Formats: sequence, structure tokens, C-alpha cells
Amino acid sequence: MAAWPPTFDARLVHAQMLTPSVRELTFERADGTPMAFAAGQFCNAILPLPHELDGAHIKRSYSIASPPGGTPRFEVAVTRVQGGRASEWLHELSVGAVLPFTGPHGFFTRPVASAAPSLMIATGTGVTPLRSMLLDAVAAGSQAPMWLVLGVRHEQDILYERELRDLAERHPFVRFEPTLSQPPGTWNGRRGWVQTHVRELWDALVATTEQPPHAYVCGLERMVSSVRDLLRTEMSLPRAQVHSERYD
Ligand SMILES: Cc1cc2nc3c(=O)[nH]c(=O)nc-3n(C[C@H](O)[C@H](O)[C@H](O)COP(=O)(O)OP(=O)(O)OC[C@H]3O[C@@H](n4cnc5c(N)ncnc54)[C@H](O)[C@@H]3O)c2cc1C
Repeated sequence: MAAWPPTFDARLVHAQMLTPSVRELTFERADGTPMAFAAGQFCNAILPLPHELDGAHIKRSYSIASPPGGTPRFEVAVTRVQGGRASEWLHELSVGAVLPFTGPHGFFTRPVASAAPSLMIATGTGVTPLRSMLLDAVAAGSQAPMWLVLGVRHEQDILYERELRDLAERHPFVRFEPTLSQPPGTWNGRRGWVQTHVRELWDALVATTEQPPHAYVCGLERMVSSVRDLLRTEMSLPRAQVHSERYD
């Protein structure tokens, strides 16, 4: 019987900085098998670093940032956490290195053919599974409204900015709403935490369609909990309409 979860080796074939603290890593399965996954899922990287307690190799989860495309390649985007063993190590990893992974894992997915509108809410690299969902849906010809609000500190921290702005310009059903918690005076866009924009965007999204929207929330626990509380408790949305993934 095949081992579960499936383990595979992947080679780092390309790497670049997306922002001053986020490195994009493109891996390719060493066996050449196409990556089979649903947009929104993640893989676990098994790193050659010993765990403090049992000495086993440490594992860290990374959302797949690229859409499923039937190729052996997949992208992840890693935030460099100060003093973080895995993220600092991955920021130094050389092209050509091979790492074992398990996956894909997770249930934070959006049916690609869904006609329901989506409000996607992320901070930092929490945008990566949402990027995968967006690109997947657009490639499949979806015209469902998909609005993304992305919170970061500074303008230079906006991940995939050009790509997401282009997507929104080309497709009227896509909206991209970056919000800066520390904007310069010249910034014309949204300001403050993502939480402060959710209710207004949700109400505007509801007004566009008969179908009840779904919310997809991804990022660090503080933001995810606060947005979930707002949607589920204050706005009384049913559980089935609120999907979330926490990074810590
Ligand atoms: C399902 C899932 C998917 C994930 N996907 C991603 C991803 O796509 N990209 C990514 O960078 N991380 C992602 N993470 C977090 C990742 O697994 C590691 O926790 C992270 O890289 C830190 O590991 P470390 O060993 O460097 O730091 P550790 O020493 O383990 O420190 C962990 C601390 O780092 C902070 N932290 C974790 N992730 C982030 C982050 N993204 N931004 C800022 N601070 C963070 C948290 O406060 C956490 O307590 C994901 C986590 C989960 C559970």
C-alpha cells in the first residue's frame, strides 16, 4: 500500500524575493510527476534540521501559491521570520537543492466551478492560497465575483501586486483591495487592518448577486480569529460560508 501522506522529493529550480521579507521558491518534483492538488492546499517541507525534542527532522507547512496546472512545478512564498529556523533556512536555500515534502494537505479550498461570490481576506503570505484559487478560477473561465483584500504594513510588502492589479483590470469580476497598516501620506488606497474593511466589502458583494457569498480567510491566528468573530458572531454568517486557514 502507498505511504500516507504521500512523500515526494522536489528540487528548487528558481528563487526570487517578492518583497523585502518574502522569498518565492519554485520547486519541481524530482520524479517529474505532475503536482495533483486543489487550489488552497499546502505541502509540508521536511527540513534537514533536528527537532529540539526528539532530533527528528522538523516539518513546516507552506501553502501552494501557484494554481494547479498539470506540471511537476509548484511555487511557495516564505516570510522570513526573525529567528525562525525553517524560514531563515529556506531563505538561504540554493537553487538545485532537493527537499522531501508530504502533501498535498488541507481542506481550505474553493470549488473552481463555484458561481458563488467570494470575499478573500489575507495578511502577508496568507495571500498565497487565495492567489492559487483566483488564478485557477480565472483559467477555468469562472466569472464569479472574487474580491481580495490583502493587508500588509508597507506598500513594498504587497505580494504579487502587479499580477493582482492586472487581473482586476482585465476581469471586472475580480477586485483587488490592498490595505496598508503603515501607509505613506501619498497612498490613495485602503488604510488600516483588513478587519476594518470586511463588513463594507461584504455588504457591497452581497448587493452584486443573489447567491450568498463565501469568505476565505488566511493568515496569522490573530487576524483570522478576529475576522471569523466578525463574520460568524457579529454578522451571524453560517459556518458553511466561512472558510479559514491559520499559519500559527
Ligand atoms: C497550513 C499552513 C500553511 C502555511 N503556509 C505558509 C506560507 O505559505 N508561507 C509562510 O511564510 N508561512 C506559512 N506557514 C507558516 C510556516 O509553516 C512556518 O510556521 C513559518 O515559516 C515559521 O517557521 P520557522 O521555523 O521559521 O519559525 P518558528 O520558530 O516556528 O516561529 C513560528 C512563529 O512565526 C510566526 N509566523 C509563522 N508564519 C508566519 C508568516 N507567514 N508570517 C509572519 N510570521 C509568521 C508565528 O508567530 C509563529 O508563532 C503555514 C502554516 C500552516 C499551518
